[in-house]
Amino acid sequence: MIQVEDKRRCCGCEACRQVCPKGCIRMVRDEEGFDYPIVDVDRCIECHKCERVCPFMKLDAPREPQAVYAACATDERLREASSSGGLFTLLAEDTLRRGGVVFGARFDETWSVCHDYTETIEGLAPFRESKYLQSRIGDSYRQAEQFLKEGRPVLFTGTPCQIKGLVHYLGRGYDNLTTVDVVCHGVPSPMVWQRYLTTLRAKQGEIAGITFRDKSVSGWRRYNFVAQMTVHSSGGNVRQFYGDNIYMRGFLHDLYLRPSCYACMAKGGRSHSDLTLGDYWGVERTCPDLDRALDEDKGTSVVMIHSERGQSLLEGMPCRYQETNYASALAGNPAIEYTAAEPPKRQLFFAQLDAEPLDSLIARLTVIPLHKRLWRQLHHRAHRVKMRLRRLARD
Ligand SMILES: Cc1cc2nc3c(=O)[nH]c(=O)nc-3n(C[C@H](O)[C@H](O)[C@H](O)COP(=O)(O)OP(=O)(O)OC[C@H]3O[C@@H](n4cnc5c(N)ncnc54)[C@H](O)[C@@H]3O)c2cc1C
Ligand code: SF4
Ligand code: SF4
Ligand code: SF4
Repeated sequence: MIQVEDKRRCCGCEACRQVCPKGCIRMVRDEEGFDYPIVDVDRCIECHKCERVCPFMKLDAPREPQAVYAACATDERLREASSSGGLFTLLAEDTLRRGGVVFGARFDETWSVCHDYTETIEGLAPFRESKYLQSRIGDSYRQAEQFLKEGRPVLFTGTPCQIKGLVHYLGRGYDNLTTVDVVCHGVPSPMVWQRYLTTLRAKQGEIAGITFRDKSVSGWRRYNFVAQMTVHSSGGNVRQFYGDNIYMRGFLHDLYLRPSCYACMAKGGRSHSDLTLGDYWGVERTCPDLDRALDEDKGTSVVMIHSERGQSLLEGMPCRYQETNYASALAGNPAIEYTAAEPPKRQLFFAQLDAEPLDSLIARLTVIPLHKRLWRQLHHRAHRVKMRLRRLARD
């Protein structure tokens, strides 16, 4: 039976729980806020299915994509509403048009994130945009398997380890399945996120909406974290450049990622997805013509193709794309392959979490030198002015 002895070797995909024929595995949250499987040994029949589906039981070598593209939706509003170039929605709409089902990550009623599926175009909106915390996979693998067996086209999206978990859970290929993973920096603790929301509510009121990647004011390259709040005495919405938001700051300093994210076994083409989507940072250098023709700083995706199915899907999309190469994509976006190193201050962070207010703790452990802060503020202001001038010129 499955037993997690090293937390770096469990990404929380729940493949083991979903496959167990006796239903005797449950996910239990640890003191850092991540879920791990625990087996009820009295009910276990030692069938070993849970071990066989665990993505850590078969580690693959990294593999380079068959082809790499810079791409974005031709629909500008869709680009603006998506984290990068809007490719997820295009792929999803194609699946739905063929009578299929789309799986993705959405906020739940507590503003945590869970996996779910939709069969409608309207149902895609909650999946759009990156939510920077771990999504609970729930029974999504089982549900996807059911749809696949019924012959429905299925598009399953998630982090590379979630896709690898699905592939292991299914245990066989399906012609009607398309898998898409995202370039993945890592997933922060859902518990830390909830604590952040508690501090936000205490200062600002009740939450009505969260956007991790708002492009409407500062564009794609300098995106904002936005929390829409209901009316409150000190109220008003929160809009912060991502580097100034305390939760994002701790995330980008790798302070509270899941332990498996410091030893990732799925990124770099090891998930067996058909396609990988991410931000094409540096597209202005790699594809200056594409960038100039399109750029209102609304976002461009890097699309990495790992299968023939992936290639044929991209070719049918209402998007503009240009072939590039893996080296240039990797140069702008090392997270495609490289795994975050566990910072020495991570242990201190969790040890102090109950003893110190969250914002001051994160601020203290992620101090940025004054000259870097000033340079960043200057850079940020210059970017805003540039955006404003561009808009004025366009209008
Ligand atoms: C936790 C996380 C870390 C990321 N780190 C990087 C990075 O370091 N570099 C980079 O280039 N790109 C990163 N991305 C991917 C990037 O932010 C975009 O999601 C990607 O470019 C797709 O954008 P899009 O415009 O095509 O579609 P969007 O509409 O933005 O697509 C959203 C897609 O992401 C999925 N998704 C959203 N939140 C989650 C979640 N919490 N867990 C699993 N799936 C989720 C949705 O199901 C949907 O498939 C990350 C995404 C996530 C979720
Ligand atoms: S060995 Fe079989 S019965 Fe026991 S926990 Fe694993 S899947 Fe369940
Ligand atoms: S990685 Fe997934 S399958 Fe393996 S132990 Fe963790 S939750 Fe279970
Ligand atoms: S970094 Fe790796 S282990 Fe962590 S969420 Fe991303 S794919 Fe999973």
